[in-house]
Amino acid sequence: MNFDERVAALRKFHQCERRLPGYKEMLELFGYRSKNAVHKLVLRLVEAGYLIKRSHKIAAAPRLEDEPGLAEQPVGSTDSGEQLLDSGRALNLLGVDIGGTKTAVCLGNQKGEILATQRIPAMPGEDPQVFKCRLNELVGAVLESAGLKADSLDAVGISAPGPLSVPRGMLLAPPNNPGWHEVPIFKMVSEMVKAPVFLNNDANACALAEMFFGEHRGIQSLIYLTFSTGMGAGIITNGRLVQGITDCGGEVGHMVLDLHGPRCGCGNFGCWETYVGGRNVAERLKARIRAGGLKTAIVDQAGGEVDKIDMKALSAAVRLGDPLAVEEWESFTDRLAQGIGALVQVINPEIVILGTIAIHERDLVMPALQAKLPKYAWRWPLEACRIVPSSLEGRIGDLSALAVAITGLRETGNGAMRHA
Ligand SMILES: [Zn+2]
Repeated sequence: MNFDERVAALRKFHQCERRLPGYKEMLELFGYRSKNAVHKLVLRLVEAGYLIKRSHKIAAAPRLEDEPGLAEQPVGSTDSGEQLLDSGRALNLLGVDIGGTKTAVCLGNQKGEILATQRIPAMPGEDPQVFKCRLNELVGAVLESAGLKADSLDAVGISAPGPLSVPRGMLLAPPNNPGWHEVPIFKMVSEMVKAPVFLNNDANACALAEMFFGEHRGIQSLIYLTFSTGMGAGIITNGRLVQGITDCGGEVGHMVLDLHGPRCGCGNFGCWETYVGGRNVAERLKARIRAGGLKTAIVDQAGGEVDKIDMKALSAAVRLGDPLAVEEWESFTDRLAQGIGALVQVINPEIVILGTIAIHERDLVMPALQAKLPKYAWRWPLEACRIVPSSLEGRIGDLSALAVAITGLRETGNGAMRHA
């Protein structure tokens, strides 16, 4: 990174956070290892008029705010993001979908047409730098198969698991990569392409994909719920995501439903996710079956191995009328209704779209949910709200990353990293 690039990085940080970075953040931002190097750079920035020294404190000088830096220079086009989207031209959008089991990169456009897509499996415990190399190759392969160069992209969207910091462009502690801590995904991808890059968490990205490309596209007030291993939501009201001031908007899996409930991975007790997250439901079932030495069709449906019990085995046993499975399903759908009821009561959305298990087990989930919801919300918001499974099954990963790119262009124009 040369001096100009460091100025640009500092400017971008200042624009996003409305403050200067601390020393520790500067180490990361400028790619330095020693505080001494940061100190020297700060002196140089003061000399060059980007920073001002006020007694012992450093402040941003007008030059840091006024001069357009690398970040604001239009890349590939002089049009604003809004103009690009309205131009009628099919944009070249790159989508990067980082998931628990794989990372997929696709090339598509604002209509949701996907021209090329490739994926690599996740490697738990992998060094972030090795991941970066593999991702770089994947991006290159997708561009090549679409006959494009890195400088012909209009925007890039990244959908990644939380917790993450959108303004800082960081994956903070992805649950499926225990060794990862503050991985600068925005910087990594920005170094691979010459286009504005936008980032958001996967649940938010899925909600955007539903708004742009789903069966109910165009609805401006919607909640998308993803409940696979955990439970998350993307909440859109008036066409905009509820991002929250620390990017925790939509972290509905950690609404506490019962203080005396099971311990959650987040440290609290009785979070919604402990009752409806696939992993938690399966673990509780395994413990109950082992402790009681219970005979149940759930085990048969898991290939005879208690260890292999999952939501699929549970729902298959429900279909066979297995008493334990039916009892567990009752409790699962009741907790599901409790959380959705709270959301419907608070947000009053036009539609709630459910992913994963609601798609595969529609007939087991939806009627049970509808029957229980009136206990947990008023009839007015319930009557006004449709609750449906997602129609984007299988494509939602790629589409969600494209949706992040589109929203980024639309809301922040070219070149910024501020949230989608
Ligand atoms: Zn929790």
